Amino acid sequence: MKAAVLYERRQPLIVQEVELIDPGPRDVLVRFVASGVCHSDLSHWQRDTWSPLPLILGHEASGIVDQVGTQVSRVKPGDHVIIAFGNKCGECAYCRRGEPYLCTPEDPAKNISLRAHARRNSTTVYGFIGVGSFAEATVVPESNCVPIATSVPLEPACLIACGVSTGVGAVINVAHVQPGSSVVVIGAGGVGLNVIQGAHLAGAARIIAVDINPQKLDLAQQFGATHGVNSSADDVAGRIRQLTGGLGADYAFEVIGLPQTIRQAYETVRKGGAAIVVGVATEDAAVQFSAPDLMRSGKRILGCNAGGVRPDIDFPLIIDLWQAGRLQIEELISQRFALDQINEALIALQQGKVTRGILAFA
Ligand SMILES: [Zn+2]
Ligand SMILES: [Zn+2]
Repeated sequence: MKAAVLYERRQPLIVQEVELIDPGPRDVLVRFVASGVCHSDLSHWQRDTWSPLPLILGHEASGIVDQVGTQVSRVKPGDHVIIAFGNKCGECAYCRRGEPYLCTPEDPAKNISLRAHARRNSTTVYGFIGVGSFAEATVVPESNCVPIATSVPLEPACLIACGVSTGVGAVINVAHVQPGSSVVVIGAGGVGLNVIQGAHLAGAARIIAVDINPQKLDLAQQFGATHGVNSSADDVAGRIRQLTGGLGADYAFEVIGLPQTIRQAYETVRKGGAAIVVGVATEDAAVQFSAPDLMRSGKRILGCNAGGVRPDIDFPLIIDLWQAGRLQIEELISQRFALDQINEALIALQQGKVTRGILAFA
């Protein structure tokens, strides 16, 4: 199959033939229909991260089952699926608690980020968080496949695998946003817009988008933002206090992954409010808080790993809301690219030129 392989960080991905591993007894071979191009892909391209090289990036994907291992029972060839990224072993203490987003396989050899995904001559090629969707196909454990009805448009459905579920999950599963509340969303990109539409869905009365890009602030309004604050021009904290009756917001979501914006989220919530860290920061990033202020203010700081999403439960729920017209998904897609254009797609994302770009394989 054809895949875009990352050999050296910050250098162009190379589109070439690789050979996928054979599916094991509990694995599924899926032909991709679409893959989103997400900020995490960009980060692992640009930054020196833990992911092993050479690597096929891409983790937000939908496709059609092509082959199944002998012990697979949940899907069959021809089924439409959304692929959940990362470990979902179904057996560890976290999976058994119903927290698959924290899955930590007891046997490190079962870590799907580190298992051989494909081969190029004699070189092992890895698949990013087990998916590797900047390619024509993948092999994943059956527990990473969420079957969906064939009536659901499969191309936009790829975005449910990461951007939509992370954003909506942050609101519903992690923060439990209450009707009538005030919500600040710092960073109105692919995930931020989904936090905004999640907050709208949850009945927030005020949804304040914060970004440096005025076009993103305009777009945020289409997804339910009631106010926009341009952080390169406005006094963010002052403006938010003004918009929230002087107290600060009930919730502030940080969807960028920078220490200064995580601090900003903490500072913009009222006493007793919650700052939710959704953005992915660099490994060495640290944020300082005043311990007595944290205690006295009763503020809460919540970590949000992949929206606290349980794919088997939350993907079908998101599809129902989408099909009922309560969530916008097609509207997130601003540009389609072919696999050969993957470097262009990543650069467009880096330059803030796309809301969500997708690779379309059809
Ligand atoms: Zn992602
Ligand atoms: Zn597990």
